[in-house]
Amino acid sequence: MNTSSHDFDLFVIGGGSGGVRAARMAATRGVRVGMAESGRMGGTCVNVGCIPKKLYSYGAHYAEAFVEARGYGWQMVHAPALDWQMLKANRAQEISRLNGIYDGLMTNAGVRRLQGRGRIVDAHTVEITGEDGQATRHTARHILIATGGTPFVPAIEGRELAATSDDMFDLPVFPQRLVVVGGGYIGCEMASIFHGLGAQTTLLYRGEQILRGFDDEVRAFTADEMRKHGVDVRVGCDVARIEAGSGDTRRVVLSNGSVLDADVVLYATGRKPNVEGLGLADVGVQQADNGSIVVDEHFATSVPGIFALGDVVGRMELTPVALAEAMALVDHLFGPAPGKAARRMDYDNIPTAVFTHPPIGTVGLTEAQAREKFGAIRVFRSDFKPLKHTLSGSGERTLVKLIVDAGSDRVVGLHMVGADAGEIVQGFAVALKCGATKAQFDATIGIHPTSAEEFVTLREVSRT
Ligand code: NDP
Repeated sequence: MNTSSHDFDLFVIGGGSGGVRAARMAATRGVRVGMAESGRMGGTCVNVGCIPKKLYSYGAHYAEAFVEARGYGWQMVHAPALDWQMLKANRAQEISRLNGIYDGLMTNAGVRRLQGRGRIVDAHTVEITGEDGQATRHTARHILIATGGTPFVPAIEGRELAATSDDMFDLPVFPQRLVVVGGGYIGCEMASIFHGLGAQTTLLYRGEQILRGFDDEVRAFTADEMRKHGVDVRVGCDVARIEAGSGDTRRVVLSNGSVLDADVVLYATGRKPNVEGLGLADVGVQQADNGSIVVDEHFATSVPGIFALGDVVGRMELTPVALAEAMALVDHLFGPAPGKAARRMDYDNIPTAVFTHPPIGTVGLTEAQAREKFGAIRVFRSDFKPLKHTLSGSGERTLVKLIVDAGSDRVVGLHMVGADAGEIVQGFAVALKCGATKAQFDATIGIHPTSAEEFVTLREVSRT
C-alpha cells in the first residue's frame, strides 16, 4: 500500500521503545517506513534504563538472599563477594544481544534503517547525518519524532563532577561510597540497587518526603524500609556544591554546611526531552517551556505531517506508555489491523512499579487524589511481616492498601510495597481497568500462602 509519492510513508527519528514499535507496526500495515537512530537500537529502556536497571536490581537482591538463607539452614562457607567487572560484562553482553534483536525486528519488518542523527528540514523532509558527517535527505508523508529524553542535572557549582543514571551501569570502579541526589524513581531505585550491591549509600532529597506523586503512606513506608535496609535517606537536604576530593573522590557540600565524601555523586533530578538539533523551531513545531513537544490526542504536533510520542512529549515517561502511544498512532495514520478496532491512548489506571528494595507497585489513585475526587472513600490497609521473613531474620515488612470509592464500591487505588509488588500489581491492574468493586475483590478466593492474597482478604476499614 504505497500511499504517497514521498520516499517513505512514515519516517521515524529515534529507535527507542516508541519509535521501534511505531516503525514495526506501520511496516506490518504494508507502508514504507524509514528509521534513523544515532546510537544503539532500543533507546533508554534497553541501553541505560529499565533493562540494565532491573538486571542490577536482581543482582543486588542476592545480597539479602545470602544473609536470609542462613535462617533456612544454609551455611556460607565463604563470604560472597561481588565481581563488578563480571556483572558489567554480563550485562553488556545481554544488552548487545537485545540491540541485535531490535535491529532484526526492523530488518524483518522491512523498515529501512539509517544510522545517524535526524534533523527536520520541512514538514515532509528529514536530513540524516551519519558519523562520517555525510548527510542524506529523505522525504516522508509523515514524520514521527520519538527521540526520548536524557538526564537533567541542575546548574549547581561542580555539576561536571556529578554522574547521571547513564553513567552508572558502566562505572569503571565500583563506588564504595555513593551519594544520590533526587528522590524520584531513578534516585530511589539506584540508591537501593547500589546499596544492595555493596555501596555505602546516602540519598539526598530536597523536599519533605521522597517519591512525590505516590501515595503518602507508600512514600513514608518505602523511606522507612529503605532506611531499615541501610540506605541513609535524608530529606530536606539541598546541595550547595560539589567539589573534587582527593584522588577521584568528590565532596558534596550541603546548604547546611555539612560535607559528604563520596566516590560517585549521582544526580537523578529528572529528565529532559531530546530535542536538540532536530530543527523544531525552524519548522515551527510547538514546544512546552521544558522543551517537550506539544501534541494533540493523536500525537500530531502543531505542524501537519509531524508527530511525536514517548518521553519527548513527556506525558508519562514509561516504556509501556510509549508502546501504547505508538500503536494508537499507527492505527490512526494507517488504519487498525484487519478485524481490529483502532486503538486510542487511555492514560487512566496505568500501573507502575518502582524497583526500590522492597519494590513499589501501584495502580489508580492515591488516597489524597481519591478523597479529592470522590469525597467519601474507604481505605483498607495492612502491613505485615511476610511469611518468608519468619525464618529469614529480615525485618522487612510489606504494605498493601486499597482505596474504595464509597459511593460506587469501586476500587480506585491499589498500592503495595513489598517483594514482587510489580508482578502482583500487574494482575490487579486488569481488575481496576474493568472497574472491579470491593465486593468483587472480597468474592475472590485468595491464593494461600502469598502476600497477594492480602488484597482479597482486607475486611476492616482503616479510615473513611
Ligand atoms: P523524577 O521526576 O521521578 O524525580 C526527580 C527527583 O529529583 C525528584 O525527587 C525531584 O524533587 C528532584 N529534583 C528535581 N530537580 C531538582 C533540583 N534542581 N535539585 C534537587 N532535586 C531536584 O525523575 P527521575 O529522573 O527519577 O525519572 C524520570 C522519569 O523516568 C520518571 O518520572 C519515570 O516516569 C521514569 N522512570 C520510570 C521507572 C520505572 O518505571 N520503574 C524507573 C526510572 C525512571 P521534587 O519531588 O521536589 O520535584
